[in-house]
Amino acid sequence: MDKAVPRTRIRPFLTLFVLLLLALVVYQTATISRSRAMADLLDSSSADLNRYALSLQQELDRYKDLPKLLSSHSELINLLLLPGSESVYRANLYLEKVNNTIGASDTYLMDIEGNTLAASNWSQERTFVGRNFSFRPYFRDALAGEAGRYFALGSTSKKRGYFFSYPVEYRDRLLGVIVVKIDLNDIETDWSDPMTDILVTDEDGVIFISTRGDWKFRTLEPLPQDDLQRIMSSLRYGDHELKSLPVVERKPFEMSQIITLVEGQRIDNVALDGIDPQRYLQQVAQVPDAGFNVSILASLKPVERRVLTSVMLAVFIYGALVFLLLFLLARRRIVQERSRFKQQQTLALERNEARVRAIIDNTHAGLITLDAHGVIESLNPTAEKLFCYGSGLLTGEYFSKLLAQEDRAVCWQHITGEASGPDELMIEACGIRMDGSRFPVELIIGRMSETDAGRFLITIHDLTERKEYEVELKQARDQLEYRVAERTQDLTRANARLLHEVEEHKQTQNELIQTAKLAVIGQMSAGINHELNQPLTAIRSYADNASSFLKLGKLEPVSGNLEEIAGLTERMAKIISPLKEFSRKTSGQTVPVSLKAVRDGAMSIMYGRLDKAKARIEWPDRLEKVFVLGDMLRLEQVVVNLISNALQAMEGRNEKWIEIELERQADRLCIAFRDHGPGIPEQELGKVFEPFYTTKQAGQGLGLGLSISHRIVESMDGHLKVANHPYGGAVFTIDLPAVDAPDDKIGVQ
Ligand code: ADP
Repeated sequence: MDKAVPRTRIRPFLTLFVLLLLALVVYQTATISRSRAMADLLDSSSADLNRYALSLQQELDRYKDLPKLLSSHSELINLLLLPGSESVYRANLYLEKVNNTIGASDTYLMDIEGNTLAASNWSQERTFVGRNFSFRPYFRDALAGEAGRYFALGSTSKKRGYFFSYPVEYRDRLLGVIVVKIDLNDIETDWSDPMTDILVTDEDGVIFISTRGDWKFRTLEPLPQDDLQRIMSSLRYGDHELKSLPVVERKPFEMSQIITLVEGQRIDNVALDGIDPQRYLQQVAQVPDAGFNVSILASLKPVERRVLTSVMLAVFIYGALVFLLLFLLARRRIVQERSRFKQQQTLALERNEARVRAIIDNTHAGLITLDAHGVIESLNPTAEKLFCYGSGLLTGEYFSKLLAQEDRAVCWQHITGEASGPDELMIEACGIRMDGSRFPVELIIGRMSETDAGRFLITIHDLTERKEYEVELKQARDQLEYRVAERTQDLTRANARLLHEVEEHKQTQNELIQTAKLAVIGQMSAGINHELNQPLTAIRSYADNASSFLKLGKLEPVSGNLEEIAGLTERMAKIISPLKEFSRKTSGQTVPVSLKAVRDGAMSIMYGRLDKAKARIEWPDRLEKVFVLGDMLRLEQVVVNLISNALQAMEGRNEKWIEIELERQADRLCIAFRDHGPGIPEQELGKVFEPFYTTKQAGQGLGLGLSISHRIVESMDGHLKVANHPYGGAVFTIDLPAVDAPDDKIGVQ
């Protein structure tokens, strides 16, 4: 990890270095190979040039002395001295013969005026005979008494020719000029090399021999107008235009120069797109006495190809070397990694072995390995300690020696049994220590893995402590079971007692409820007294009246009075009947209860008191549709208690007004009783449901009403809560499970 970080940092620099080195290698290779290729090209083209110049020289040399030789021939002198048809004929024949023999193009004789008197081609259609060539420089040179040499395009034949001339003299008198013309086309055809071009230029630089047909009669450099005019007027090259070659660049190189030609279409000396500029190495050699130069133009394409090949080879070799280096580095790294991995592995193995050894030596279990015959091969210190043998004393002994006689057979059977049998045997046996004492052990005799086939590993646990512990455990369990039985009995008894107490409590509660009812009845009795007093007084006066009418014998009013009495008793029975209902004990079952029924029941009890106290009570409408789950009589008792408390609280107030409101929340129904009394002091709010809490004077209240009401509501799975209204008065809320109006009236109260 430590090494990986710098390596990744170095990598970009290394890559840059490799690329820079590659660029250097490419540059150096290109430079060296170019200079070598150029040197080779220079050598080879210089050798070629010399060869071509020499061959040209030799070709010319073959003819150079022929005019001189011919000039002294008598036939020709005769013709010049004594012109006549006979001498012309003979001279023509002679020249024809000579011309054929030497292989020249034409041989002809001119007088000092330049008129051709005889010619080798006398018999041909385009014969020189009769033509005047006094304008040719070679004629003038010969007239001057010198051997003339000249290259020109034949004015008659239109063929390029090289002219050798010589004056014909007789006794120091100039008579005429003899000319031998040779054809240079053959030389051109001999010179053919695809990579080099040969040019022969005259003293003006006009190309008149070239291996490239299109370069003929062009110049190496543009000629000044004067020179052009002069050459044109000499008719040397007929009517050829003598345009210069399209050279765009000239660079000196050693003793020669490199020229760049743009062949093809050009506009204002600028090469058009797609036209490939060609570069040549130009070398020039002079042909002595001939009056012209031979140039060789060697294409630089082979040089460029050689440079490219060398560069590619260098890049390839460089690439191969770099890859080889990378490969060697990678290999070295892999070898290093491998050896490191091996070291780590060996270290890990050693550590592992040491750990296993430590585990074996320090384990609390005794470990013994046996060979296939049950002989002890090795054992750990724990095993030696278990059997109280000194170190190394048990090795080579039979394992059965460590077991009691009765347990040996089972172990022996497993050790000598089939290898395909169970791999492991676990038994509890009796071990024998060195001193002969016995102790309980647990043995696990296991076959070793395939590599140690036939051998066994025995794991031994001393069971002495466990056995003691088991005995202790058994005793403790027995004790516990005994105590549990005892406790169960106690609990059963306590349970029975509790059940009994609950039963008693229920009874007490019922009695308390009954007492509370009676207390309410007691409170109501004054009102009932008042209610009953009226009809009683009326009955009495009706009875008195009836007896007076009877005495008078008036039977009709008697029956009227008796009917009135019967009506009044019915009314009295009605006044008393709710009291009977109220004091009745209830079943305690919860059923859907109509709030209308509760209201009617409570109101029939409270009617008299409300009326007397001139109190107003407001029940919500459509109560017949509202049902709660509960016990009607008990709920009625709670409602009576709440209304009665509200009446007592509002005593002495001008306006006595009780508002009852309903609120349905999901499956619950809240019935709130708000009075317009003084409310309950805040600190007393938590106490009002406590039994015997009362603020009333002795004899007026027991302080049990709300406590019992609270329990009654809770027994119906509801809650009774108290709060003070923000605008005064107390609000008692009964919260009960709501039910939808049942379809059938079975079980509905
Ligand atoms: P009791 O009516 O016999 O005193 P309750 O348990 O019915 O017993 O009421 C306990 C006390 O709660 C009352 O003495 C009274 O002080 C208070 N209390 C009950 N209802 C109201 C109420 N509507 N307004 C004010 N105080 C009330």
